[in-house]
Amino acid sequence: MADYNVIVIGAGPGGYVAAIRCAQLGLKTACVDNWVGTDGKSALGGTCLNVGCIPSKALLDSSHHYYHLQKHAADHGIQHQGLSIDVAIMQARKEKIVKTLTQGIGSLFKKNKITHLPGLGRLVGTTEVEVIGDGNKVDIFTTDYIIIATGAVPTTLTAAPVDNQSIVDSTGALAFNQVPKTLGVIGAGAIGLELGSVWNRLGSKVTILEALPDFLALADRKIADAAFKELKKQGLDIHLGATLTSTTLSSEGTVTVTYQDKTGEQSLVVDKLIVAVGRKPNTDSLNATAVGVKINQRGFIEVNEHRQTAVANIYAIGDVIGGPMLAHKASEEGVMVAERIAGQHSEMSYQTVPWVIYTYPEVAWVGQTEEQLKAAGIEYKIGQFPFAASGRARAHGDTNGMIRVIAEAKTDRILGVHIFGISASELIAEAVLAMEFEGSAEDLARTIHAHPTLAEAMHEAALGVDGRTIHA
Ligand code: FAD
Ligand code: AMP
Repeated sequence: MADYNVIVIGAGPGGYVAAIRCAQLGLKTACVDNWVGTDGKSALGGTCLNVGCIPSKALLDSSHHYYHLQKHAADHGIQHQGLSIDVAIMQARKEKIVKTLTQGIGSLFKKNKITHLPGLGRLVGTTEVEVIGDGNKVDIFTTDYIIIATGAVPTTLTAAPVDNQSIVDSTGALAFNQVPKTLGVIGAGAIGLELGSVWNRLGSKVTILEALPDFLALADRKIADAAFKELKKQGLDIHLGATLTSTTLSSEGTVTVTYQDKTGEQSLVVDKLIVAVGRKPNTDSLNATAVGVKINQRGFIEVNEHRQTAVANIYAIGDVIGGPMLAHKASEEGVMVAERIAGQHSEMSYQTVPWVIYTYPEVAWVGQTEEQLKAAGIEYKIGQFPFAASGRARAHGDTNGMIRVIAEAKTDRILGVHIFGISASELIAEAVLAMEFEGSAEDLARTIHAHPTLAEAMHEAALGVDGRTIHA
């Protein structure tokens, strides 16, 4: 008999959720993970909890309070003097949140009787995992199934080598101990925009260089345009069609960034530079190909629609297989794979994975954009509602943005919902659910929404698909 039914390699949102679901289904489960926290101890939760989703949102919230007090407190009659930010306290708060949550995963492992194996996991056979732990102690465990959930690491650029002093990746940008006077960001994806926003709100002069000519190329154009305008207004100096070509460090540690745009070569000098040009799969130490697991040209592990690799008892989930590199996508794959290993027939709906960018206001969407539908020759109808016409948004003092509901012309089935506005990350859940149930715009339009809420804007946008919007 094998030591375990399942060994999961990686304890990010893909791996730890897969491990918990396996254990719930009665499988004897271990989870190998090599993350070491800032206190030098092993920490569960992977990128997401340690240096990703959670710490970035902690800093976004802190910086939002500061920015909001500075810019909007007076609108509410709130007076303040000598407002300042103590970056050390802000960072300590972030660390505490991370620690509470990573330790929480440890408690969940104990509750579910999952063995945590701290160390580097390596495949030494199709049913054997080697774990290199503390002091290079090597153990080999046998298992019926393996789930690879080793995630991804920041993509590097030879033109901007990360030294974690002047040129940092997303992890370094979450840990600045003072507000840089000037900050450059390479890449206007979710990570670049979120981290650029944090430091911009705290006083940095932020310049973002994005190689692509379109802002948020995957998003609905009207939403992306509205977000671009607003973020520029907030002070993010975003240059599109601007490709980094080289960087030079001065003796004082400032960075001269040279880039190419349509007018030729440009340069910029900044105190710190964040490289946020995407993430690459983490497979280097796995020894995966030696046991028959296939890796594609872009370095992602190859899987079928049920996340099974070329080796039948080895699955792979999350960032290491590509697709949307999002925590919730990794977790849901973990659930599907665990259930399939336990003999169930679970499937995952990839067409309803929501996307969120946590700027202020937020950008969120699910399903297809108007541009994608046009290109596919699918006839559609759109209902749109501006937050400027929402009573709740007015009470909030934030009327920026809109909701767009797109439905198939013939069937009224919802094909996509796109939001730029406050709480878009929460509002999108209703759209995801409606689409998961294959709902129509009329289903949303006939659903009673509490008043006054931001969600009424979703209701109104759905009414708009049939030209029945009430308040605009
Ligand atoms: P990971 O979370 O990367 O976890 C992989 C784990 O495996 C790590 O602990 C790693 O140390 C371990 N590991 C790797 N190789 C081995 C090995 N050989 N042996 C043992 N252990 C190993 N996504 C969102 O959905 N929402 C957000 O708001 C969001 N914000 C982000 C902000 C930032 C700054 C960053 C960097 C990412 C953000 N993401 C966000 C992306 C999200 O963090 C990832 O999509 C998610 O963490 C992927 O989960 P995963 O389980 O596949 O891998
Ligand atoms: P994401 O993949 O969403 O994290 O976003 C990363 C962004 O970085 C993408 O929009 C890329 O187009 C952009 N990018 C990649 N390489 C460069 C580069 N050399 N200069 C400027 N932008 C880049």
